[in-house]
Amino acid sequence: MEQCNKCGGLYSVSRIGPVVPGGKEREEVNCPHCDDLKFSEMTSQCFLVCKATDEEVSSWAEMKQSSGKPMLRVVVFGDLSSDRASEQYPTITICPECFEANEHAEDDPIVSVDGVGQGACEWCGAGPT
Ligand SMILES: [Zn+2]
Ligand SMILES: [Zn+2]
Repeated sequence: MEQCNKCGGLYSVSRIGPVVPGGKEREEVNCPHCDDLKFSEMTSQCFLVCKATDEEVSSWAEMKQSSGKPMLRVVVFGDLSSDRASEQYPTITICPECFEANEHAEDDPIVSVDGVGQGACEWCGAGPT
């Protein structure tokens, strides 16, 4: 599922037809809602652009909502007397609430944010939302 960055409309793009070596033409994909050119590609296939169905729109919205607050993978201060980097600065998963609560703490244990975490929060035990 793609979202038009101009009108915000949802659509899907699929390729149809055989891949023919040498039979390439420039095929363009336009937003089916506002006709904005999204991309073009040299291909022997055709692009089939469809407006998203109501069902697709609602499942997309649901997915967006559930991934709205991802768990965070952060590097924290650990046992600095250890000679192993993984113990000095362990990487753990925490929830966004714990992150926000600690962001302005005086002795903020978070060194840096590494990315999106997997699984439950190691501080409060909250699972992914
Ligand atoms: Zn559009
Ligand atoms: Zn937490």
